[in-house]
Amino acid sequence: MEGDMDMNQEVKLAKNYDPKEFEDRLYKWWEEEGFFTPKVDKDKKPYSIMMPPPNITGQLHLGHALDNTLQDILIRTKRMQGYSTLWLPGEDHASIATEVRVEKAIIEEGLDKKEMGREAFLERVWQWTDQYRNRIRTQLKKVGVSADFTREAFTMDENLSKAVRKVFVKLYEEGLIYQGNRITNWCPNCMTAISDAEIEHEEHEGHFWHIKYPVKDSDVTLEIATTRPETLLGDTAVAVNPADERYGHLVGKTLILPLVGREIPIVADDYVDLEFGTGAVKITPAHDPNDFQVGKRHNLPEIIVMNEDGTIAEGYGRYSGMDRYEARKAMVADLEEQGLLVKVKDHSHNVGTHDRCKTVIEPMISKQWYVKMDTLAEPARKAVREKQTKFVPERFEKTYFNWMDNIQDWCISRQLWWGHRIPVWYCKDCDEIIVSMEDPTHCSKCNSENIEQDKDVLDTWFSSALWPFSTLGWPDKTEDLDYFYPTSTLVTGYDIIFFWVARMIFSGIHNMGDVPFDNVLIHGIVRASDGRKMSKSLDNGVDPLEVIEKYGADALRFSLTTGNAPGNDIRYYEERVESARNFANKIWNASRFVMMNLDKEIMNKYKDSKNYTIADKWILSRMNDVVKEVTENIEKFELGIATQKVYEFMWNEFCDWYIELVKPVFFSDDEEAKGVAYNVLYTVLTTGLKLLHPVMPYITEEIFLNLETGDKSITISSWPEFCEELKNEQVEKEMALVIEAIKSIRNVRAEMNVPNSRKAKLFILATEGAEAFEGGKIYFEKLASASEVILINAKEEAPENAVAAVTKGAEIFMPILDLVDVEKEIERLNKEKEKLAKEIERVEKKLSNERFVSKAPEAVVNEEKEKEKKYREMYASVIERIESLQ
Ligand SMILES: [Zn+2]
Ligand SMILES: [Zn+2]
Repeated sequence: MEGDMDMNQEVKLAKNYDPKEFEDRLYKWWEEEGFFTPKVDKDKKPYSIMMPPPNITGQLHLGHALDNTLQDILIRTKRMQGYSTLWLPGEDHASIATEVRVEKAIIEEGLDKKEMGREAFLERVWQWTDQYRNRIRTQLKKVGVSADFTREAFTMDENLSKAVRKVFVKLYEEGLIYQGNRITNWCPNCMTAISDAEIEHEEHEGHFWHIKYPVKDSDVTLEIATTRPETLLGDTAVAVNPADERYGHLVGKTLILPLVGREIPIVADDYVDLEFGTGAVKITPAHDPNDFQVGKRHNLPEIIVMNEDGTIAEGYGRYSGMDRYEARKAMVADLEEQGLLVKVKDHSHNVGTHDRCKTVIEPMISKQWYVKMDTLAEPARKAVREKQTKFVPERFEKTYFNWMDNIQDWCISRQLWWGHRIPVWYCKDCDEIIVSMEDPTHCSKCNSENIEQDKDVLDTWFSSALWPFSTLGWPDKTEDLDYFYPTSTLVTGYDIIFFWVARMIFSGIHNMGDVPFDNVLIHGIVRASDGRKMSKSLDNGVDPLEVIEKYGADALRFSLTTGNAPGNDIRYYEERVESARNFANKIWNASRFVMMNLDKEIMNKYKDSKNYTIADKWILSRMNDVVKEVTENIEKFELGIATQKVYEFMWNEFCDWYIELVKPVFFSDDEEAKGVAYNVLYTVLTTGLKLLHPVMPYITEEIFLNLETGDKSITISSWPEFCEELKNEQVEKEMALVIEAIKSIRNVRAEMNVPNSRKAKLFILATEGAEAFEGGKIYFEKLASASEVILINAKEEAPENAVAAVTKGAEIFMPILDLVDVEKEIERLNKEKEKLAKEIERVEKKLSNERFVSKAPEAVVNEEKEKEKKYREMYASVIERIESLQ
């Protein structure tokens, strides 16, 4: 593009696009200038986003890069639109996930968590925290996030911990937090209770063990079937359906529990399914949630038979101390020996596993703290029903309601060390429970100093549920809180709608009296190019930092967001990053070209001239359209469409057409024409850069600074606005006709192998928009190798031997046959015909090979079919051309 023009303007912009040269430098400068640190400014409207805090367990993945790019697009746009924008970053302490990781690390060092003790272990976790927070911060900055790191928060910060404490005490005093003996999901590996949401359900190949329980003082036995025979130790009844005629006579009788010898009753309960198994069900209230309910109805004892690590508890002879599965084997063998095992049937069933460690959950009764959900859930449902918080896309409301409508009380205690310790003290002398904002020194009831704090910590989501206001200083009354709450938009993945989004909504309403955000923009996950999830086990993960190293942050950001719809999963292709980099390259070169040719003196002289050419009017009108479309799409959260529109405009209309159309002006002697062209080029380029800035912040800033617009930085420059005056539909229509016509002329000339240097007359028979072709004469001359453009009124006026091109609004005749050596051309075409015939033969052979068709991936087969089709079409048009020449 460059090279053939005046090179007299000094251009500071580097010759080649090299993101490494400026990305880090610009980020550092932005931070130093404080562009991302907003002030509480009553004259401006606030716009705020709380960044979903990454867990401190590791490093950023592509999902974070996507999530943060979407947020950055919104924040950068709003900042340019004049809002006081706060994007508050931070990290999550991720209680269980971090504890598991640090524990693993110390085991590798040959140390033991228990031996180490709570304090020393927590010290290690704090070291880890510092290291990983630092790493995450650095990585986020590499992505280019325009977040305010002076307000960076951490869920274990002093103030955020104070917020946690405040909410706990408040809910306790309101009677919404209670302690209960409840059946919980217990992970014997992590040795903690976990919530329903942390369980993954998997189909397991298991068995049904049919076991006979002898009826006391008789020869009769009752046969039950179970998938977990080891829980037999804790049976406190066998239940049958009251309508079951097979067992009616046995209800009220007593059974002797095998292996244990304890006496247990036979009870009748509707819960038992007559059709399932043998119709008799062993009841183990301490180890099964349904049995727990049956036990409550029949006042059955609850006997816990396992230790926290899943081994059998004391008092069960040789089984005690055995792992639950080892005990299962031993018990089944003993039952068989005693003739009590009837049969073993294969049975695949649904098993819950802990999502972090994949260990099978053991339901177990334990003493835990709970949040009562019904009073909290209703206002949160209402707020979304009434659109105080809107989900984008709306379909994700369903996920929210599914969870909220079936919500159970929230078990918030975890048997871990890392996290917010439960602010509850127990008096050892009078059993008083003390819950208060300040750490107590003595019992509030009996004054005893013999008090002890609860050993457990809170579920990690308890603190992140408060994120939208705890980060702004709550429970203190701060200016930030007053100004920025409720926040504007939350951007997050659909996978944590119930873990996190729902809990933030009810926490916000309950503690702040208002929803935490107006909108929730949901995005999908980033998958590998074959559609599979990226995971460690598949080793198909992509490190965003490596991509940035190779292509630059702008290319990564652009490729992750452009063309994607909210809520949909996206696939990662390196090729897409590569084309994004090519786009950046194109913008870079076009900008250099503009800078090289722009004479600022002449430009300023004709600043106010409106002597526009049709091309000027066209590009200004199109630019104006794009400003409107991009702004509207960002407003609707269609960020993928918005960036796609800027891309198309900049690449096609600006670089490929306008710059080409305007080139002839640079050679003219008409100073005003030059001045006007310079002004238009400059306006369109700066506007395009501004529209592109939210998704590609670095390259746009680097070019913008070199354009010397008078603005200090593009980040704080003003967002382009739609201007009615620039809109010109007539010109857009006319220019579209000219561009289409030029394209078809170029196609025909290329097909006929006519070099650009060989000019020919053009005869245009316009069926519509004759003025467009008349006004566009100069463009045909420069861009379609026309020596002269003649508008005609009838076909007959065109020379006889002309080649015709049909385009929208016109038929165009070109006497170019004498520009080609017909003999040579036929010769060339014959060669091409042979080549194509060979290609067709090759593809046909491949496609008739059954092995290939059945074994190769569908996409590859389709690709071959496409090739065949294309070659056949080319073959046909070559034959046609040969015939026309003969
Ligand atoms: Zn676990
Ligand atoms: Zn006391």
